[in-house]
Amino acid sequence: MTATKIDGTAFAADVRAQVAEHVARLTSDHGITPGLAVILVGADPASEVYVAAKHKQTVEVGMASFEHRLPADTSEDDLFALIDTLNSDASVHGILCQFPVPDHLDERRVVARIDPAKDVDGLSVVNAGLLASGEKGLVSCTPLGCLMLLRDQVGDMTGKEAVVIGRSNLFGKPMGQLLLQENCTVTIAHSRTKDLAEVCRRADILVAAVGRAEMVRGDWVKPGATVIDVGITRIPHPDKPGKTKLLGDVHFAEAAEVAAAITPVPGGVGPMTIACLLANTLTACCRAHGLDEPEGLTA
Ligand code: NAP
Repeated sequence: MTATKIDGTAFAADVRAQVAEHVARLTSDHGITPGLAVILVGADPASEVYVAAKHKQTVEVGMASFEHRLPADTSEDDLFALIDTLNSDASVHGILCQFPVPDHLDERRVVARIDPAKDVDGLSVVNAGLLASGEKGLVSCTPLGCLMLLRDQVGDMTGKEAVVIGRSNLFGKPMGQLLLQENCTVTIAHSRTKDLAEVCRRADILVAAVGRAEMVRGDWVKPGATVIDVGITRIPHPDKPGKTKLLGDVHFAEAAEVAAAITPVPGGVGPMTIACLLANTLTACCRAHGLDEPEGLTA
C-alpha cells in the first residue's frame, strides 16, 4: 500500500474535542449549554444503536441530550406536536428525527416541520437551498465530515477535478455543492452515467457514495488522487461464522496502490457523521445566541 490511510476515527475524536472546548467556553462565559433533541419513532434495532451513540457522544462533549422515544404507531399529528414544542424550546438548539420512520409517516414532511435553524441534519429544503445558493445554513453531517477530511488532507482544492458518485439529497448533492464552494470542477455521477470508470479516472478527488461493495477498482483511480469512501455494505464475515463485516464502495487494497490518500471502511467517513452532528448543534446554538460560529467546524 502506498496511499496514506486517512484516520477518520482520530479525526472525529479531534472534532469532538474541539466541540467540547467550545461548549465549555459557552457555558463558562455565557451560561449557555447547547442542547440536541433526538426523536426515535418505533424500535428499529439499527436506529436504536445510532440514537444511543448520539446520546453518549452528545453528553461527552458537555451538551444537553434530550431523547424522545415514541411508539411505532405515533400519528403524524402527535409527532408534529412534539417537533413544534422542540422548535419553540430555547434549551434545544438542534433537532433530529432518526430515519427510517414507520411507513405511515412521510420523512420529507417530518424534516419540513423542523425549524431550519435547528435542522442539524441539514436535510430540509431550506438548508439544501441555502447551500445551493452559497448562503449560510446547516449542512448535512456526512458531506460536512468529508469536507473536513478533504480540507485537512488536500488543503486548497481550487481547480481540482472532483467526482462524486451518487446524487442523493442526503449525500451526493450536498457533497457536490461543497466541493464547488471549494472551487473544484465537480462532476456528480450516478447510475445512468456512461463510462463511469473513465469519469472517475480524471478525478483528483474521488468521493464514492453508492452502497455497492468494492465497485470502484484500482484502475478507476487516478494516480495521486484522494479517495473518500462513503459507501457501507454489510456482508457475512468470510472467516467468522455468524458475524458480519463492512465493505466500502472502493476496493481498498487496489485503490491504495494508486491513490495518495484514502479513507478505510470502517474507520474513515463513518465516525465523522456524529462528530459533525455535534458541530452543527454547536453552530446552531452560537447562531441562536448571536455569537461567533466555531471556526473550522462549519462549511
Ligand atoms: P442512495 O440514496 O441509495 O443513493 C445512491 C446513489 O448511488 C444514487 O444516486 C444512485 O444513482 C447511485 N448509484 C447506484 N448504483 C450505481 C452504479 N452502479 N453506478 C453509479 N452510481 C450508482 O444512498 P445514500 O444515502 O446517498 O448513501 C450512499 C452510501 O453511503 C450507502 O452505502 C450509505 O450506507 C452510505 N452512507 C454512509 C454514511 C456514513 O458513513 N455515516 C452516511 C450516509 C450514507 P441514481 O440516483 O441514478 O439511482
